[in-house]
Amino acid sequence: MVSNTLDLLLGTSKNPLHAYLLVGKEDYTKAAAVRFAKEIVCEGSKDCNQCKLIDSNSHPDVVVIEKTGSALMVEEAREIIQAASRTPRLAKKRILIIPDVHLMDKARPTLLKTLEEPAEETIFILLANSVPPDLITIQSRCLVFNIAKKDIEGSGEVKKSLENSARSDEASLRCELWKSIPSRLDNTGASIAILVDELMASVEQKLSEIKKAQAEELKVIDSSPGDKRSISAMKKQVEERQRRELRRMRNEEFRDRLSDLAQFYLDRIKEVSVSAQSSNRHYRTAEASHDLIAYDSILEAQERLRRNVNEPLLLRWLLFRLSGIEG
Ligand SMILES: [Zn+2]
Repeated sequence: MVSNTLDLLLGTSKNPLHAYLLVGKEDYTKAAAVRFAKEIVCEGSKDCNQCKLIDSNSHPDVVVIEKTGSALMVEEAREIIQAASRTPRLAKKRILIIPDVHLMDKARPTLLKTLEEPAEETIFILLANSVPPDLITIQSRCLVFNIAKKDIEGSGEVKKSLENSARSDEASLRCELWKSIPSRLDNTGASIAILVDELMASVEQKLSEIKKAQAEELKVIDSSPGDKRSISAMKKQVEERQRRELRRMRNEEFRDRLSDLAQFYLDRIKEVSVSAQSSNRHYRTAEASHDLIAYDSILEAQERLRRNVNEPLLLRWLLFRLSGIEG
């Protein structure tokens, strides 16, 4: 099945990036932006509190910037910056929807600066009818989607909810896989190679949605107006940014899954220290010290992952440590 553009956009909602540019007629891009905002803040059903607030246009963290003149003025750009720096009140993210970016003139440098130094919890959704050449710098800071009428009409709620449940199944399978590590390790190391392959595959699977969206983004750029040289220059910039994004998301996935794993050992250490008063003291002490080493090793692995290491090798190292095999 070929996903439509809106599905690709919505697919990035679990790990949203900090800036998006939706290109197309404002009716469509605004509808897509609102739909996307819902997907990000939703608590699980389309009539949850957060969705209702968005529907009634009163969600404190989902702000559509309304311009007073024909284009955004510098003053309004400053407002955007202020709004962007506030911490979200109800949702985990603060979402700013900014229409008519293609008409922006004097406000553009201010906006650009904000995009370059994003606040952690803020997501920008910029809307533009088209991408004129002088919007290229802004475009290169955003994940870009072309939104057409068919994308908005094609987003049936039934199909959506099916996809959502498929996505959350995938997420829970990934968690289960990482949590199964302690029980699947033996002291021969025989299972380690298989586990490393499975863990790497689960990370790739997690990143596949965002890769699809990135490929789509490059297609949009290919079909942008402008001369060949500026398009290929922009493409290079965007590819560079896409690599950084992927890198960041890989790191986050490893970090989060390793944190779950560390928590497993930490819980067991606590459990053991509570029951250590009772029987079989010697055995329990040995077990606890193994768990402590395991816990420390996971923290060390997290630390090393920040430094662009070879991931399969690092996982292998970690799993050997967790198995209690010297090496
Ligand atoms: Zn909802």
